[in-house]
Amino acid sequence: MSRQEIESFQSEQLVRSVAQAAKSPYYASKFKDFGVEPGDIRSRSDIGKLPFTTKEDLRLSYPTGMLAVDPELVVRMHTSSGTTGKPTAIFHTREDVENWAELMARCIHMAGCTAKDIFQNMSGYGLFTGGLGLHYGAERLGMWVIPAGAGNTARQILLIRDFHVTAVHATPSYAMHVAERMLEGDDPKSLGLKYGFFGAEPYTEEMRRKLEELYGLKVFNSYGLSEMNGPGVAFECPQQNGMHIWEDSYYVEIINPETLQPVPEGEVGELVLTTLRRTAMPIIRYRTRDLTRFVVGDCPCGRRHARIDRMLGRSDDMLIIRGVNVFPSQIEEVIMRHKWLGGNYVIRLSKKEALDQMTVQVELAKGAFDGSVESLRNQRAELARQLREQVGFSVNIEVAEPGSLPASEGKAKRVIDERE
Ligand code: AMP
Ligand code: ZN
Repeated sequence: MSRQEIESFQSEQLVRSVAQAAKSPYYASKFKDFGVEPGDIRSRSDIGKLPFTTKEDLRLSYPTGMLAVDPELVVRMHTSSGTTGKPTAIFHTREDVENWAELMARCIHMAGCTAKDIFQNMSGYGLFTGGLGLHYGAERLGMWVIPAGAGNTARQILLIRDFHVTAVHATPSYAMHVAERMLEGDDPKSLGLKYGFFGAEPYTEEMRRKLEELYGLKVFNSYGLSEMNGPGVAFECPQQNGMHIWEDSYYVEIINPETLQPVPEGEVGELVLTTLRRTAMPIIRYRTRDLTRFVVGDCPCGRRHARIDRMLGRSDDMLIIRGVNVFPSQIEEVIMRHKWLGGNYVIRLSKKEALDQMTVQVELAKGAFDGSVESLRNQRAELARQLREQVGFSVNIEVAEPGSLPASEGKAKRVIDERE
């Protein structure tokens, strides 16, 4: 689609989507309270007339207050992972499920996969959207799909090898864990994987490079959230420079979370999304709390759907330590530069005499310790220096044996806050 085609399609779909949302009890009253009627929305330029939707709205409307169709038309529901409280339920009609599969197939195809590829989904199935979401998309493309699910690392490796899997989907933290388990007696490169679709949690460019080197594959960042179906919202093309966000299905805004006004193009703000094609449960101007920016300019791949940058984090992920704002990604970036360290880490926050303390727990990479305590001490001092430079205060470092920190099968829990 050209820009013009995308934008006129967005206008049509926004009008439809708002009218559809108004059929749900929750939006009917929310629009009324806000003083807006579906008829006030005539094109995409009217988006600012609509109220935002927050996680709190989803909680208030739980379980079915935002359902906009006869329950008979619902064929599926999912929930968000509920890492920040009670889960929220999302509903789909048959057509919604088909559209989602089409978006997901589009992502996988964009990466370069075809029906000839063999795909293993290492993501949890069930209510979590990373299972069925990727599954339906890959099947739509005609791929041979192995629904391995999460965990059971030895079996994952066995299946990849025996069935000559070429593409996998996982969280980056789990993909790292699998690679490191293999390094105990084998080489992840020997698996012959070509494509890694890694997402569902934030990770840095440095983590991507490390995964690419370990496996010898190409990593495609995959972004989505259950409120917007799940995966299939934004995905990288082979340029690996920002994720194309499917604007025929989502209206995209990036706002300043304080003023709620759009940020200047290219600046970081909160991503706000409106579903344009969903019928069972349209969501209007959803405040994702994810922080990103538009990648300015046309993508050399030729697609005209906007690109968003790798997530900087969530606004509620930001740590305030001794009054300094720190994102876990800033710590990850430094750790990944150190070849003597593995890919897993934990950030622990505690208090000592009323002063915040940050301890970063890292693991030695397999075979990295050459027996010289002296060189280990130097490497550690260099890590401490770089972390201090990154955050502006001293950080304690604990170096653990390879494989000794808790590994995750899904979204990693990177921060443990014991300051209370
Ligand atoms: P869920 O509620 O389980 O669907 O989780 C959605 C959330 O996961 C998003 O709002 C993001 O905070 C996070 N997420 C998903 N994909 C990515 C990604 N590629 N990079 C960073 N964060 C992500
Ligand atoms: Zn592109």
